[in-house]
Parts: sequence; C-alpha cells; structure tokens
Amino acid sequence: MSSVPGQYQRVLSGMRSTGKLHLGHYHGVLQNWVRLQHEYECFFFVADWHALTTHYEDPSIIGDSVWEMVIDWLAVGVNPGSAKLFIQSQVPEHAELHLLLSMMTPISWLERVPTYKDQQEALKEKDLATYGFLGYPLLQSADILIYKAGQVPVGEDQVAHVELTREVARRFNHLYGRERDFEAKAEAAIKKMGKKNAKLYNELRRKFQEKGDHAALATAQALLESQGNITLGDRERLFGFLEGGGKIILPEPQALLTQASKMPGLDGQKMSKSYGNTIPLREEPEVVEKSLRTMPTDPARVRLTDPGDPGKCPVWPLHEVYSDDDTRKWVREGCRSASIGCLDCKQPMIDARNWHRFASGPKTLLKTPNWCAILSPKATRRRGMWRGILWKKCVQLWA
Ligand code: SF4
Repeated sequence: MSSVPGQYQRVLSGMRSTGKLHLGHYHGVLQNWVRLQHEYECFFFVADWHALTTHYEDPSIIGDSVWEMVIDWLAVGVNPGSAKLFIQSQVPEHAELHLLLSMMTPISWLERVPTYKDQQEALKEKDLATYGFLGYPLLQSADILIYKAGQVPVGEDQVAHVELTREVARRFNHLYGRERDFEAKAEAAIKKMGKKNAKLYNELRRKFQEKGDHAALATAQALLESQGNITLGDRERLFGFLEGGGKIILPEPQALLTQASKMPGLDGQKMSKSYGNTIPLREEPEVVEKSLRTMPTDPARVRLTDPGDPGKCPVWPLHEVYSDDDTRKWVREGCRSASIGCLDCKQPMIDARNWHRFASGPKTLLKTPNWCAILSPKATRRRGMWRGILWKKCVQLWA
C-alpha cells in the first residue's frame, strides 16, 4: 500500500508549454483544475522540460508559450491564491530527482509504457528515438514524488504513467527505506508518541497485520499524521512499520481519473493543434465567429431544402457541449426536416458568446506591475520540501 493519508489531499498536475491553449484544453484539463483547487492542496506547473522531449530541435516555442499559458490559466479562473503555480525549470530539483530515479529504474519499465510507442507512431515526422522521450514518464514520476502528491488527475491514456510512478516509489522505498536496526528504531519512535498513543498504535498495527483490518490501518495512519512530537524520519519509519516494511520515503500516488474532453475541433475531429482545428482560448471574438460560420456541416445538405443528419455534422458536437436541451431539440428537428439552414443552426452558439469569455485574459491582474511574481522562483522553489524528504535519506546513504 505504501501510502500516507495526508498525501491524498495534495494534487499535482502540469501542462506542456508547446503553444497556445485552446478550448479542448479548457474542457479537458483546466475546468477540472478550477474545481480541484477548492477541494485539495493543488500544485499546477508549466512542464517546460517535458515540452523539450518533443521540441528539442527548435525549443523557441517553449519559452514563448510559458507565460502565455500562465495567462490562459488565470483567464479561466485558476487562482494563484488557491493553487501553487510554478514553472518546472525554475525548480531544478525535478531534474535532480529524475536523475536519481533513472539510476534504479529498469529500462524495460519505460519501454512498456503504452504511450511511448503510440506517440512515436503519432509523431513520425520527429526523431523521438532519444533518452529524453523514453524517460519522460520518469520525469513525470519525479514531478509527482517530489511533492509527495497523492492524487494525479489523468485521462485513461495516462493511468500507466501513474502506475509507473507507484512502481518506482516502491522500488525506491525498498532500496533506501531499509536500515540497520530498523525494528529497534521503530520501537524507540513508538515510545516517543507517549504511552497512550503508543499503546493505540501497537493495537492498530496488530489488527492490521494479523487480521488485515484496513480500517485499523487508516486509523493508525491518521494517528501518525497527528503526532507533532516525532521527527519526519520517525514518521516514515512508523508508516512503514505499520505495514510490515521499511521506511516509506516516497508514498505512492493514485490516479484521479478525469473524463476526456468532448470538445470537438472545427472539423469535428478531436480538437488538437496537430489537426489545425482549434479555437484558442483567448482568440479574438471576430475570428472565432468567422471560424464557426465557415465550419463544414453535414455534406448531405448541399441545398437548403436537403435534410441533414446532426450525427454526421461536425457542428453537432459543439451543440452537445454548449447548447441547452431546447436548442438541441430545435437543431435535431430543424436539420432533419430541412426547416432551418446551417447558418441558423450555428447562430445560437455564436450569440451565446461562450467563446468570448476568456478573450480579454485576466485584465486586472495583468495591469498589476510585476504580476509574474506570482510564479517567482522564490515563491515556487520548494527545495526544503523534497531535500528534507529525499536528499538526506537517499544521497547521504553513501556520503
Ligand atoms: S443544420 Fe446544423 S446540424 Fe444540420 S447539417 Fe446544418 S449545421 Fe449541421
């Protein structure tokens, strides 16, 4: 299990800075972030090093995109007062931990991650036979494990990456969580909790180990979380001792499954930059309106009098995302009976102005001098957080 209950209140998620964000990103990721930031302790980051894995030959777009992406986040309501926002490359510890993890991660674990081959196939025009591309799920593992994040919002295609992270954490704990006199140190740590708590801990531990009582395990973990008079090292020891293992230095995260975006592109395919069918988040309203008006429709509707089928029309999925029940009913009936034209059909979406709401960006904030300070290295470097966790425990093993 190798988990620590408090960690499940912490969420980590990042986005690669490879160009302008579009409405597909909003519906697939950002809407979810806006909700999560009020429910968990959230760490959201610009994954600029991840962007390098596919854009190493011409990285200029990465730098240009970083701040534009942050503005997009702010425009849709991601709040730096609620979530911790940072840029990956400003926290070099991500790279350090990646390096350390790479020493003990079997290559076969990375080669079998399904997205490795799928992405190489999808991006044939790029030479992705690089270590960086093979190792990017391990960099993701480092991103997650640095913060001891318990929840990682992912779509189904990324669940394998979280599973890899869990395996890496288990291997790390197995290698570095062992110590001489572990039992004696654990027993000494129990005593530090005071007589009453020590007795309760031992009872709960026995219930879990002898009877597999998971409620007892959870209670014991909560008890450890609440202990203010034991050190971090003792806490890790006692979490591991509870489950019959060594120290839990890197707790395993869980995948927080998110629904895939239903947002279609302007041609009815999935909205994606590579298909050239996106609606950028902060696009000028006139441009969006023009794109909508010229969107292709059901090819069967050559003349106004030809009936159509919304199921065969790229415009219909947009109605499914943006229109209410009455409008959708009007579209279905009007299209099939040829009583409305395609421009009539698009008009309610254009009028709803949903497309425009992020266009101006977070105006007030952007007028504030030095607004970028919300992501300053000082604010985002959380070195202590993982140096205390890992550096002493791992690197000093041979120092
Ligand atoms: S009426 Fe609407 S749903 Fe039907 S073909 Fe035209 S745009 Fe598509």
